[in-house]
Parts: sequence; structure tokens; C-alpha cells
Amino acid sequence: MGILKNLARRLSRQSKFGSNEGALMPAYARLNTQFTKGQGSRLWDQNGREYLDALGGIAVCFLGHSHPKVNHAISEQASLLMHVSNLFEIPQQAELGLRFCEISGMDNAFFTNSGTEANEAAIKLTRLYAKQKNVDAPIVITADGSFHGRSIGALSATGNLAIKEDFKPLLEGFEHVPYNDIEAIQAYANNPNVVAIMIEPIQGEAGVIIPDKGYLKAIRKLCDKHGWLFIVDEIQTGIGRTGKWFGFQHEAIQPDILTSAKALGNGYPIGVCAARGHAAKLLSPGGHGSTFGGNPLACAVGLMVINTVEEEALVNKAEELGSKLKQALQQQLSKLKTVTQVRGKGLMLAVQLSHLHEGLAQKFLDAGLVVNITGAGKIIRLLPSVIITEQEISQIASICHSVIEAAENGA
Ligand code: PLP
Repeated sequence: MGILKNLARRLSRQSKFGSNEGALMPAYARLNTQFTKGQGSRLWDQNGREYLDALGGIAVCFLGHSHPKVNHAISEQASLLMHVSNLFEIPQQAELGLRFCEISGMDNAFFTNSGTEANEAAIKLTRLYAKQKNVDAPIVITADGSFHGRSIGALSATGNLAIKEDFKPLLEGFEHVPYNDIEAIQAYANNPNVVAIMIEPIQGEAGVIIPDKGYLKAIRKLCDKHGWLFIVDEIQTGIGRTGKWFGFQHEAIQPDILTSAKALGNGYPIGVCAARGHAAKLLSPGGHGSTFGGNPLACAVGLMVINTVEEEALVNKAEELGSKLKQALQQQLSKLKTVTQVRGKGLMLAVQLSHLHEGLAQKFLDAGLVVNITGAGKIIRLLPSVIITEQEISQIASICHSVIEAAENGA
């Protein structure tokens, strides 16, 4: 009887929602495709159809799908020990902390399960810093259009107003300035409540918005002058994607706090908040914690990712392949009426459109290419893996051409 009741409930949900997702909260406007297998830069759906993946789970699968070394790290560590509490020493976490600090120039690291949690840790550090400075109503400056995560703290830091509106009251103490506008930050010079600035080196969710050269350097100078912490959110840009280990390294500066996630686990959930100098000494036992953050399995994967990227010189490869993809896109798309710009750094690229083409994400899927459409439908975002081949690069550019051209012609 119980089984029949459950079946009836399931069928009724399926017919009500038109798919088998009826038991899920409708948090996502999903495309009607289920990927069931991934290998390198390729994905296969439930019908066995093959796709070229130029999105990588939104900047996550930097090493491609089902990477043999990552698979090996997972199965080896899982068969030994997946999880142990942070009440005990975790050698994989200690080792990953050292390796992460080596590639980033930071002093120490706190591991989390996601980018959002890494930013929460960063925000908590600003509170500790404010306390030390006797600032009762601390302000963290962040940028318009920024994305820092969906928890109440990270959402308060986020500059994308559309996703914040329904969740008020948000956390106080975040002030937003136009991105890439150093004077807007300078205007806070005499405000004693400012304790930190939090910036993406390239805005990802906003549609690959690249600031002018010198922007991060100028922020660093202001932070030094006024005693503000400089937080760089490298959750999307980190671990080699832009052609440096981290986006801030393009300007040869060093932040006080660095957050990263996504590619660090290549698909296994992990995030990190790293700090340097004074900021690295703010936390003490009991001040922050996580049940899962930094467990042996996550850290074994993170270590394998960093070691693989280093051993196979993939940071430089991201730069090389990224310029080839940018060039191929520029060549193929330059004559299209609605393409106004192809921009990017390394393997973080965007095609800017002047017009909205209805159903563009589905049109790309129908053409066998996985991309992300953002910027109110006018930006095509490409975040392919670093193991993409030159042939796949040409394929991406030519599919982009045919899909946009067909959309322009009303197809
Ligand atoms: N910060 C940036 C720059 C991001 O791009 C993202 C996710 O897209 C986040 C924070 C949130 O990370 P997560 O989704 O892992 O919580």
C-alpha cells in the first residue's frame, strides 16, 4: 500500500511539474537536458548525444571531466579515509594549505565547502579586524555588478541588485561602488568606518568584465594608505583560468585576503579563504569552523588539482589556448551584425551581443555546444577546460558563428 501511495504521489508530481523534478525546490530555471557522462571537454546526454563543453560546470572542471589523476585521488583517498573532524590534525589539509600558500603567496588558509563559505570566512575576518580597530559600524566596499555568493553575508556583499531584492533585510555594512572606478573608492578616504575592499579581479557572473590595467594596483595602494584589508574574490578566476594562478598576479600585487573555490576541486566541493600578514593572525580557535570543510577527501583532490596544474604547466597553457580561442572567435564573429565585442583573459571569455536572441542557451545546446548566457541574455560566457584541443577551439568558434547567425536571421 505504501509503495502504491508513493508511486501515485510521484506520478502526480511528475504530471504537475512536467518533469521528474517535482520534489525539488524550483530554485533553477533548468534547460531540459540531463548529462549522464563526461570525458575531457565532452559531455553526453541521456540519449547518448555528444556535446562540446565550453562551460565546465561554470569554471569548475578546469582539468576537464573525469580526469584520470583526479579520479585516482578520489578513489585512493575514499578507500582510505573520507572524513574526519577538524577536532583532529588532517595531514592532507595541512599539505594543501602549504601548497595553496605557495602558489598564491598567502600565509595561511582556511578550507570550506564552497566559494560562498570562503567569502563568509573573509567577511568574518573583516569583523575581527574592525573589532581590533574599535570600529563599531564597519564598512566593506564592494563593486556594483559583483557576485560573491548567495548566503545572507555574501549576498549583502554582492552588487547584483536583482538577486538581493527579495531577501531584505540584508547585512549592514556593505557599500557598493562602480567597478573599475578608482575615484569612487578614493571618495571613502576620510571615512573611518571602512575596513576592507572586496573585489573580483575580473567580474565573472556579470559577464567577464575586465577592469583597466592598474585598477587592482591602485586599490592596493589605497588599502595600504588607509589601513583597509584588500580582499580578492578569485572563486571563478583562480587556479590558472586567466593565465596566472590568480587574477591579481597579472598586476603583481598581493591581497590581504584571497578566496577561491570552483576549479580547486575540479568538481569536488571545496573552497578556501587564505590570508596574509596581519589578516592571517585574526582568527583564533573557536572563531570559525566547518564540519566538512577541509576533510581528507576534499583536500586530497585539491592537492591533486594543484599538482597536476603545476606539473603539466597548465597555467601557461590556459593563457596560450585562451588567446587562440579569443582570436578564433574574433575572426569568426567579427562580421556578425549583433556581435559587438569578444573579450577575455586566458580561458575566461565572453561574446557581447547588442541584441537579445530568444532561447539562445537552448539554441547552443541544440547545436551541441554548452555555454552560459548571462548579462540579461546579451553575453555568451565561455569557460572551457584547459585540456581543450585546437580542433575543439575551432569547433567552438564555428558553432558560435552558426548559432548567432541563425538567431540573427530569426531561426
Ligand atoms: N564569488 C564568485 C566570484 C563567484 O563566481 C561565485 C560563484 O559563481 C561565488 C563567489 C559563489 O561560489 P559558490 O557558488 O561556490 O558558493
